[in-house]
Amino acid sequence: MASYETRLLIGGELVAGTGAPLDVENPYTEETIATVGSASAQELDAAIAAAREAAPSWAATPAVERAEMLHEVATRIRARTDELARLMTAEGGKPLIENSDEVGWTAAAFDYYAEIGRDSAGRVIPPIESTQLAMVVKDPLGVVGCIVPWNYPLLLLAWKLAPALAAGNTTVCKPSELTPLSTLALAPCFDHLPPGVVNLVAGDGDVGAAIAADERIDAVAFTGSVETGKKVAAACTARMARMNLEMGGKDAFIVCSDVAGELSVAARGGVWAAFLNAGQVCTSAERFYVMSDVYDDYLNAFVETTRGLVVGDPMDPSTDIGPMVSAAQRAKVERQLAEAVDAGGEVLVGGDRAGQERGHFLAPAVVVGAPDKTAVWREETFGPVAPLRPVRTLDEAIALANSTPYGLGANVYTRDLATMLRCMRELRAGTVWFNDPLTDNDAGPFGGFKQSGLGRELGREGLEAFQETKHVHVETEIAPKEWWYPYSQYNAAAQQPRDGGGA
Ligand code: NAD
Repeated sequence: MASYETRLLIGGELVAGTGAPLDVENPYTEETIATVGSASAQELDAAIAAAREAAPSWAATPAVERAEMLHEVATRIRARTDELARLMTAEGGKPLIENSDEVGWTAAAFDYYAEIGRDSAGRVIPPIESTQLAMVVKDPLGVVGCIVPWNYPLLLLAWKLAPALAAGNTTVCKPSELTPLSTLALAPCFDHLPPGVVNLVAGDGDVGAAIAADERIDAVAFTGSVETGKKVAAACTARMARMNLEMGGKDAFIVCSDVAGELSVAARGGVWAAFLNAGQVCTSAERFYVMSDVYDDYLNAFVETTRGLVVGDPMDPSTDIGPMVSAAQRAKVERQLAEAVDAGGEVLVGGDRAGQERGHFLAPAVVVGAPDKTAVWREETFGPVAPLRPVRTLDEAIALANSTPYGLGANVYTRDLATMLRCMRELRAGTVWFNDPLTDNDAGPFGGFKQSGLGRELGREGLEAFQETKHVHVETEIAPKEWWYPYSQYNAAAQQPRDGGGA
């Protein structure tokens, strides 16, 4: 068994967790590659206490110094690209090439927030009188709990941790119980920070729930399922803690008639958007609505492209599709496929185990004819399944796209500006991609409408999620105000609205 870092980072010390052991499975070999001790109640308590203790001096550290330290985090992460990418592939099954990219984006988020965090601390606003200075000041929240899923373990951590630190908060971070190793391996990337600024704990949902419920955690930044997100929201609401929630999606992908000459590109884009990371992406394209006059050609190109995908060992650089993360996740997707077929749907390609003897493989599946009420059209699949159906009008496509409780992302292939504007305005989704599916941008806020989320990560909004807003009003002259007591000084004739005064 290779040797992995399995210790927690608490108050700057590496500590073996003494809570429930977590066996980490390699989803390709189905072997247990490491056992991580979860944080016990005492260890979690120590991590939160360390973050609290570190909070005042980290908040008081000049933003320019925090920026230097965050750039150093980015440099250290980049220097470990191969190690971290291999670790993520071993514990999560995502192809190595995608994990190498993920490490790069993770480092980039630290560089981006290093700069954004030192760029502004609020704004100056017009005062009520010329003797005054009025400001909007951005304060850190305090201690942020970061709770992360397994599909992009480091990137989704960085989208929380980097802005939280840049804004002057300290943190307690919990990776998914399925993929704790890559996060714990980050410890050396933080050892130039003051102890307690970043704490890394491991554990399942109980540890996550304990973080969300702890009075000493000022804010929770969560990415995961809608079901869990609602529990986190309830725990935060009960104590009015701040929260930023990134949850599930059921993204629509619309193909318009005007791209008839470019259907093979639109099909390649669609296949990538549907099957990237075996469909285990919150913004996976999970519903394809194709204008009827180009439907047959698009479907043929989509099926042919899907047939050409290489399914296999995720460490092999030529593999397109690795195993799914777990047997349970695959079983959930297989249930949705079976329901679609029972209801009259047809699987044109894939949906089997791809001829693999081991590993949680599911060959990318293209489904047609499934009724609109089936789960493949209505519920998050989070697996390599692409249902396609024809639509007659843009109105129909937009109405169908907006017909689920989710609103994370949406994709449209069109060159027509009027169609773009309509989709831009009418699609109820946090990101709308035209002709370039799923491209993230550190400067572009990311998050969901409706049940897909609350708040945004990335961009300036992603920094503000970890800031409290304070209005500061300074009067340079100490003199009585005309609207103060005694009110008897006002005669009846002067009963006009007075300047200033309370809210
Ligand atoms: P999950 O909701 O099961 O778990 C997410 C995290 O929450 C894990 O760390 C888990 O241990 C923790 N957790 C579980 N119960 C908890 C509780 N009661 N209180 C606090 N924490 C708890 O999700 P998952 O299966 O790990 O990830 C897949 C889901 O994540 C999908 O629904 C996917 O759409 C979503 N996701 C969303 C985004 C986004 O940015 N919107 C990105 C990636 C994944």
